[in-house]
Formats: sequence, structure tokens, C-alpha cells
Amino acid sequence: MARLSGKTALVTGGSRGIGRAIATRLAADGALVAVHYGSNETAAKETVSAITEAGGHAFAVGAELGVPGDAETLWTAFDAGLADTGAEPGLDILVNNAGIASSSNLTGTDEAEFDRIFAVNVKAPFFILQRATGRLRDNGRIVNISSAVTRIAAPGTLTYSVTKGALDTLSFTLAKQLGARGITVNAVAPGIVDVDSNAHVLRNNPQQLAFWGSFSAFGRVGQPTDIADVVAFLASDDSRWVTGQVIDASGGARL
Ligand code: NDP
Repeated sequence: MARLSGKTALVTGGSRGIGRAIATRLAADGALVAVHYGSNETAAKETVSAITEAGGHAFAVGAELGVPGDAETLWTAFDAGLADTGAEPGLDILVNNAGIASSSNLTGTDEAEFDRIFAVNVKAPFFILQRATGRLRDNGRIVNISSAVTRIAAPGTLTYSVTKGALDTLSFTLAKQLGARGITVNAVAPGIVDVDSNAHVLRNNPQQLAFWGSFSAFGRVGQPTDIADVVAFLASDDSRWVTGQVIDASGGARL
């Protein structure tokens, strides 16, 4: 039997990039996966189709994050989508992956940008988690996608880095509270990863690709599956004794 058979997972931002790889991997491991998206429904449907064509089970959930009432909208859509599948209400695995990047340093960040990135990267996961705990079954799994810039100082992305630092603290602190129910809460911190949304600066630019790859001990940038495989471990029973941790998944960047 697949190791996540009978489990239900929600991956925010599961439609594209790292989230798509996570959704695909959890489904391959047997979970029923809710593939969340913000505005690109086509991408979410493509991800769901790829999963079902491979023999897995998934459904799409649309909700824009970073706007008032976002968490409530997301959970209402999740509950409805789950009911349509005929599965039991509730959740076993929540991956807070959706996030936006920002190249803004201390002097280059205005209040509107600060508020926007915090709304998507911190406020949304916070209130998604607030409404998740009643739905999560005992021995559930929460994985928050952070970034290696909480370990590697990157002044050029200061605002983004601070949002991910907040997510690490959220993970660490909630792990203490939810441990009594066997629920683990961990963060995964990728280094730079080759996704469609940064292809213009990375994949399509061999010099940049080599430059960013040189930070890793392995001499390459990450692939979405490099991150998804780490999340799959944290989503499984094998990780039951690991909680409150930030797991670096940067290929040993700047060791
Ligand atoms: P992508 O830009 O490739 O995909 C982002 C996903 O999040 C999409 O599914 C998108 O849905 C969703 N999303 C983004 N903003 C919103 C919003 N406001 N409301 C609802 N959904 C939203 O991102 P990545 O795969 O690159 O990044 C995934 C996570 O990994 C992020 O948290 C990021 O910070 C982190 N990370 C990424 C790194 C990288 O190099 N790529 C490095 C370190 C960390 P839609 O298209 O419908 O808007």
C-alpha cells in the first residue's frame, strides 16, 4: 500500500512550480491532494489532470491569498471540493507553499509592498493554519515552505527574507502546541530553484544558472522535485519524531 494511502493533503500554490512538484509527489505516495491556486486555474487543472492520468487523486481549489477573508475562502472551497470527491471531511497534511518573492532591500521597500508581501507570505499562512487545526486529524503534518535566506543573509531581498523568518518562528512555536496531538510542524528552506516563474533570470540565462548553481555544494540549482522529496518525508509517518525544525533543502548552499 502507498505510504500516504487514505490521507488527504492540501498544497497551497500547488498549481505551479515547487508546489506542483509537491502535489504530484504526495499524490504519487497515495494521498488525495487539493491543488490550490490563486488566479491561474488552467495551471491547477493541468496539475490535477497530470495526477489523475498517473493514477492519483486530486482536485483544484481556487482562492486568492493576501486579500481580506482569504483563509475562509480557501477553506470553504476546500471543504466543497473534498465533499465532491466523496471523501471524509478533514485533513491530514497541510503544505503552506504559496508565496511571492520580492527584490526589495531596506531603502527600496515602500509600505504598500511591505504590506503585500506580508499579507501573502505571513498573514495568509497564519490564518490558514488558524482554521486548519480544527480540520487536521491527530498525527497530521504541517509543512511550511520557507527559504534559505533565513540562514544566508541576502540584503537585496530583505523584506522577503523577513517574511520567511516569521514562517520559521510560526512553525517552531506551533510545533510545541500541536505536539500533544501527534501533529508535526516543520519548515523546509529551499535555495534557489529552477521554476517557470524565474526562468527569465535563471533557466534561459546560462551565466546566471552557473552563478547561482555555484552556491550549492553540488554545483547546480535546485529542481522542484528536490524540494518535493523532502516534503514527502515530512508528510510521512517516517518523520514522526521530527518537529519544530527548519530543514535546509538548498543543496548545501554556502556551507
Ligand atoms: P511559483 O511562482 O512558481 O508558484 C507560486 C504558486 O503560488 C502558484 O501556484 C500561485 O498560484 C500561488 N500563489 C502565488 N501568489 C498567490 C496569491 N496571492 N494567492 C494565491 N495563490 C498564490 O513559486 P515557487 O514555486 O518558486 O515558490 C513556491 C514557494 O517556495 C514560495 O513560498 C517561495 O517563496 C518558496 N521558495 C522558492 C524558491 C525558488 O527559487 N523558486 C527558493 C526558496 C523558496 P497562481 O499562479 O494561480 O497565482
